[in-house]
Amino acid sequence: MKQIALLGATGSIGVQTLDVIRLHPDEFSVYALAFGRNIEKALPLIQEFQPKMIVVQDEETKEKLSKQIDHNLILSGRGGLVEASVADPVDVVVNAVMGSIGLPATLKAIEAKKIIAIANKETLVTAGHLVMSEAKKHGVELLPVDSEHSAIYQSLNGEKKSDIHKLIITASGGSFRDKTREELVGVTVKDALNHPNWSMGAKITIDSASMMNKGLEVIEAHWLFDVPYDRIHVILHRESVIHSMVEYVDRSVMAQLGTPDMKVPIQYALTYPDRLDLPMTKQLDLEEIATLHFEKMDMERFPCLRMAYEAGRAGGSMTTVLNAANEEAVQLFLEGKISFLDIERRIEQALENHERIHNPDLSTILSIDEETRNRVRFHLN
Ligand code: NDP
Ligand code: MG
Repeated sequence: MKQIALLGATGSIGVQTLDVIRLHPDEFSVYALAFGRNIEKALPLIQEFQPKMIVVQDEETKEKLSKQIDHNLILSGRGGLVEASVADPVDVVVNAVMGSIGLPATLKAIEAKKIIAIANKETLVTAGHLVMSEAKKHGVELLPVDSEHSAIYQSLNGEKKSDIHKLIITASGGSFRDKTREELVGVTVKDALNHPNWSMGAKITIDSASMMNKGLEVIEAHWLFDVPYDRIHVILHRESVIHSMVEYVDRSVMAQLGTPDMKVPIQYALTYPDRLDLPMTKQLDLEEIATLHFEKMDMERFPCLRMAYEAGRAGGSMTTVLNAANEEAVQLFLEGKISFLDIERRIEQALENHERIHNPDLSTILSIDEETRNRVRFHLN
């Protein structure tokens, strides 16, 4: 029986992780359950899964929750996320919180040699060099939950990383894939939240519309698989059937296919190296799909993808700035305070005004993260 610490249990990935756990009660149990402030959504999950430890975002939420349930171990804040990740009985940490808030928990879980199923891509974008060097030092492997990275991981099964020639990451294109740049002026939050293929949390859905999600995934892939940026290729593939590919030095290409359902990569990260049945997920019907399409990515149409490549290649603190600026700009857009195209403008300004720091340590990363957020939020550039 694997004991799981689930960070971000009330989110899109969190809820689907619980769907997987519910299917296999003899395999998994929830030891720790962490969420932000959404008590209403968390209460039935707590009742059903009976976690020994609960973590919430802040003291205020902790107080409110304590009045509603009788539980002797409710923690709060970043420290609480860390405690859940390193708790002795925990075998697997599923990091599915949104944003760079997940970083300290990932680092401490590595130190404690836990199995880490990582959905929280912002952790790798903001501090990939720290995360990967800690993982190497402690002999811990990160199991990707992001569908593209799970596809690459599965396509790599048993192969040597040194035989990789290229990674090919597929992009569905998000809600605005058929709009021109002129048509993006004046698009609303509601338009952006309407993703054609996947149902996900609000922030990642906006990231998909701006193509920043693919940019973050390129950086995530660079760190997870140790492949240089000029060998990570993105192509537009609107059907989301091929979830990504690996081209080897002998030109052989391995791909992973399936219906778009996050439960597949979530479960694979939980069961690796084994597989279990996933009965509710629709089988891939290639006869019904009949045709697959692939298009070249246009970096002028999608400047967020270009900026992500540039920040990744520049390295050091640039990806910390890219991530923090994006998180804050997307939040401002969701709050109705800036337009969709302002997101990329705010990020570009933040990157232009930042003096790159080579090999930043954790405290430098956390302070750059905070400073960038303030600059973007209050438009101080
Ligand atoms: P959601 O916004 O749906 O969920 C985020 C979760 O994190 C919620 O449970 C939220 O709690 C919790 N949370 C937020 N802030 C804190 C905090 N300070 N302390 C504790 N918990 C917190 O996000 P998604 O599930 O969509 O995404 C999660 C991660 O997975 C992201 O990094 C995303 O990029 C990645 N990912 C998501 C995919 C998807 O299909 N959704 C696909 C691939 C990757 P509350 O509900 O209380 O606010
Ligand atoms: Mg993805």
